Amino acid sequence: MPGHTIRKPLPCSKCGYDLEGLAAKAHCPECGQDVVATLAVRLDPATETLARGNALVRTAWAIYLASAGSVLGCAIALAPMVDHARVSTTPTRWIALLMDGTRTIAPSIALVGALIGLLATIVLLPWNRTRPIVRARLIGGAGFVGWTVLALEPPSFTATLATLGAVAAVAASMTPLLRQLLPHSRLFRTARHATQTTRDLLISAAVSGGAGVLTLVLYKQRGQFTEYAVFSGAVAYSAAMLLVVGLCYRLANAHWVLRSVRRPALRVAEVLGD
Ligand SMILES: [Zn+2]
Repeated sequence: MPGHTIRKPLPCSKCGYDLEGLAAKAHCPECGQDVVATLAVRLDPATETLARGNALVRTAWAIYLASAGSVLGCAIALAPMVDHARVSTTPTRWIALLMDGTRTIAPSIALVGALIGLLATIVLLPWNRTRPIVRARLIGGAGFVGWTVLALEPPSFTATLATLGAVAAVAASMTPLLRQLLPHSRLFRTARHATQTTRDLLISAAVSGGAGVLTLVLYKQRGQFTEYAVFSGAVAYSAAMLLVVGLCYRLANAHWVLRSVRRPALRVAEVLGD
């Protein structure tokens, strides 16, 4: 390495100065840091041996768009919530306008999200027969088909509860693919605290679904919200909020992976020349 020259644009890891053209044993002219230190930070040895093909980029895009579709699809819950709030409160004029706007737009946002996810899983995933791809296409695709149908239905809490099954199917079926791509994202490997596990998503969906069904049953029995129904409703809402936050984290994770796969780490042989 000592006799090598940096042949590609390579920003200094300390000050950002472009080290292209300098000897590998030199120092950064701006801040004096060793060029070797920048190489150690910028290059990602774990990915050096992994192939980066078209299939990889398509998989990363599919996971990203399926995650984005899932987040948008959560808007399916907004319209029934607004309907409920509309009859049980007397909002001020501006709040009422805001509520009516949300009521109008939310079902369309949910539909667009479900369709984006459907296209991502059915069309965008590469056409090979490896088990994780086939599973993601079939189960994830079925989840988004169901989600699309529910988004076309008149907004209701029942449709929202049924969507939780679709959320679980999509999250679980995409996970093996996401796991395959993880080694390609250094950010993902090093930011463990900010990564979203599928188990937590499924637990949130299950708790929200269970408490939601209980709330509807209690409400139907009495025709009004008893304290039990209010309590289980609060649990359902809280778990649903956790689920939405979890899906946003999952989207961020998918974005990191996509970014790494689209802009591959510099290869040592490409960067260092004689
Ligand atoms: Zn520098």
